[in-house]
Amino acid sequence: MQIQENISLQPYNSFGIGAKARKFASFKSTEELSAFLTTESKLPLLVLGGGSNILFTKDFDGLVLKNEIKGIKKIDEDDEFVYVQSGSGENWHQFVLLCIENNWAGVENLALIPGCVGASPMQNIGAYGVELKDVFHELKAFHRKEKTNYTFSLNDCDFGYRESIFKRKYKDEFVITSVTFRLRKQPIFNTSYGAIEQELERLTISELSIKAVAEAVINIRSSKLPDPKEIGNAGSFFKNPEINNEQFLILQKEFPGIIGHTLPSGNIKLAAGWLIEQCGWKGYRKGDAGCHAKQALVLVNYGNAKGDEIYNLSEAIFQSVKKKFGVMLEREVNIV
Ligand SMILES: Cc1cc2nc3c(=O)[nH]c(=O)nc-3n(C[C@H](O)[C@H](O)[C@H](O)COP(=O)(O)OP(=O)(O)OC[C@H]3O[C@@H](n4cnc5c(N)ncnc54)[C@H](O)[C@@H]3O)c2cc1C
Repeated sequence: MQIQENISLQPYNSFGIGAKARKFASFKSTEELSAFLTTESKLPLLVLGGGSNILFTKDFDGLVLKNEIKGIKKIDEDDEFVYVQSGSGENWHQFVLLCIENNWAGVENLALIPGCVGASPMQNIGAYGVELKDVFHELKAFHRKEKTNYTFSLNDCDFGYRESIFKRKYKDEFVITSVTFRLRKQPIFNTSYGAIEQELERLTISELSIKAVAEAVINIRSSKLPDPKEIGNAGSFFKNPEINNEQFLILQKEFPGIIGHTLPSGNIKLAAGWLIEQCGWKGYRKGDAGCHAKQALVLVNYGNAKGDEIYNLSEAIFQSVKKKFGVMLEREVNIV
């Protein structure tokens, strides 16, 4: 339980931003976490998983606590499901691979998302037609001030599109310490989204399996998204914005190529990447801050960009989309 001072956060965030933390430590258990919260109670606190959904715009004048709570175990089962509990500091993709090895189905479409298990409920991670809420059973979280453990069921978490109660009502109140997943013994394949079916065909898979689906997802993601080890980024910088059908029809008249899909509510979810591309940002670069050449939704650090340069670029993108389409983008990445 050692606290370091004046530590560069560059290795700890996928944007590769060289902001500094006044204090830095890691915790391996709820008890260690509780001890830090007691001894350092006066300092601002930031809990960090893999740092793949965060943009540091300045040094952090407080304590950064890196989550290293480990351990994955099957805790229960019934005829249909296995219930698997994971420490929140486990790497998400390694967790997915372990599920595939054990034939526990449900997370295969979420392969290769960077970060830790503990952050997965924060924004209800999603990809290729599946969201965390589809496999979620419950989580345990430690209240930062009360220093007590709470259990949250699916309903308690108020999951939405890249949203949960922990990003809104309970922002900065809890540290998630474990997540329990409800995984299927018999898979229900979800291959209709994106290019999964084409990729499965290309792979000439003879029998569909969760391993094959994960392989297809991994191949597609690797070909489309920049690897943070090569170019700093945090995946999609903005959420896909939602507008009502009336607004959509007006926009469609002026911009016939506009991409949107209808939600069960009747509202339309627009492709933020398309809006940003139409404003001419795709491939844009100023200094080391840029908008990725293949995917306009991904802002990138080509090397030594400062966090505020990336943030300013996101602001310019926000303003231009607002001006051209009258649509307000919302940042998905957590700004610190
Ligand atoms: C290349 C790339 C592709 C991506 N693709 C996707 C995608 O397809 N779908 C998707 O949903 N996301 C995607 N992301 C975003 C990111 O991977 C996820 O949001 C991931 O869950 C973040 O995990 P993390 O551990 O890195 O979180 P961090 O960045 O460390 O933290 C994110 C936020 O959660 C808080 N937090 C972290 N852990 C805890 C905890 N245990 N308790 C309380 N608060 C906590 C942090 O304080 C911070 O506010 C992508 C990112 C990259 C770089």
